[in-house]
Amino acid sequence: MVKKCIICSKEAEFKIKDCNEFYCEECAEEHFADLSLLQGIEEEARALKKVVLDNLNGNTQNNQDLEN
Ligand SMILES: [Zn+2]
Repeated sequence: MVKKCIICSKEAEFKIKDCNEFYCEECAEEHFADLSLLQGIEEEARALKKVVLDNLNGNTQNNQDLEN
């Protein structure tokens, strides 16, 4: 699902950490001098994917531990 900038409704590329507020790059730069306050959505998705993959791998390896 494409996230939209809460200001201009363009496709968002950033979100505020721990918030459901999304911004496109333009609005993010305009409203937040420090973009490190924001999180790249793709970066977040990648991190999430990694966690899921790690969990999958971990689960296959630790299946026996979990069952015991
Ligand atoms: Zn915008």
